[in-house]
Amino acid sequence: MRGQVDQLLEGAIDLHCHGYPEISLDVQMRVEDLEAARLAAQAKMRGFVLKSHMWPTVGRVYQLRHQISDINIWPSITLNVSVGGFSPWAAESALKQGAKVIWMPTWSAKNDLDRGGFSHFMKTSLSSLKMFCVDNGLTIFSETGEIDQRVTEILALARDYEVPVSTGHLSPVEAISLGREAKRIGLRKLIFGHPDSKSVGGQIEHIREFAEMGFFIEFTFLGLLPALQRISPKEVCRRIKEIGANRSILTTDAFFEWAPPPAEMMRMFIATLLSEGIETDEIEAMVKRNPAVLLNI
Ligand SMILES: [Zn+2]
Repeated sequence: MRGQVDQLLEGAIDLHCHGYPEISLDVQMRVEDLEAARLAAQAKMRGFVLKSHMWPTVGRVYQLRHQISDINIWPSITLNVSVGGFSPWAAESALKQGAKVIWMPTWSAKNDLDRGGFSHFMKTSLSSLKMFCVDNGLTIFSETGEIDQRVTEILALARDYEVPVSTGHLSPVEAISLGREAKRIGLRKLIFGHPDSKSVGGQIEHIREFAEMGFFIEFTFLGLLPALQRISPKEVCRRIKEIGANRSILTTDAFFEWAPPPAEMMRMFIATLLSEGIETDEIEAMVKRNPAVLLNI
């Protein structure tokens, strides 16, 4: 039986999909990458970007593409200290191997450490991280308060390769400064990564300002999961209605053993928002048109 939700899922793109392994081999997923890809293909999704907090997913995606052909899978890089932080060399290498999204730091962002966000979870998983404190955290600002030259170089690479940059777990102030810098150098594709997350701490005024710059705001299904409930479906819808669906994208972003496979999470996300009064055309914008623009496909 295929209903309205299945039709909306058909052709959808998940720009933020976690796979396995992630963080450590102990962090289990409901399904591994190939099975996640099969389920997405079965749902007739257009594709997903495989994200890891640790390493570029370029090699993994290269191999996956030999195993499944009826779904698009795109690799990405997250600029945590595990890849050298704000390293234009790491970013360019990943881009040369097909990376389609660059994430600013997540668990190694100073903001995340300051807020005891995802870095807190990471420290419970990696004992070597216990010594990694706020002072080691990455910020886009240099000591003089200017944007670090390496960050500008990375934005310029994203512009030249026409890939979007997500703000990761940078602070809302950093996200907005990054937006201004992106505009200055002509990078038009920037995503405010899940501002509702505790790791980010974005408020509605930051979201509004970022959207008004012509960039995109990410809403993740992770935030709606029963065990987290960091935002309510009603509030997600209120924010989408305020900034507009053409400035919004929907992604999954979950990596737990107890979370459904990514394609199913995307399906639940669409169904949840429909039941809260989001229109089908708005869903189409958030899961199909906007991600396609961001990926240049
Ligand atoms: Zn993520």
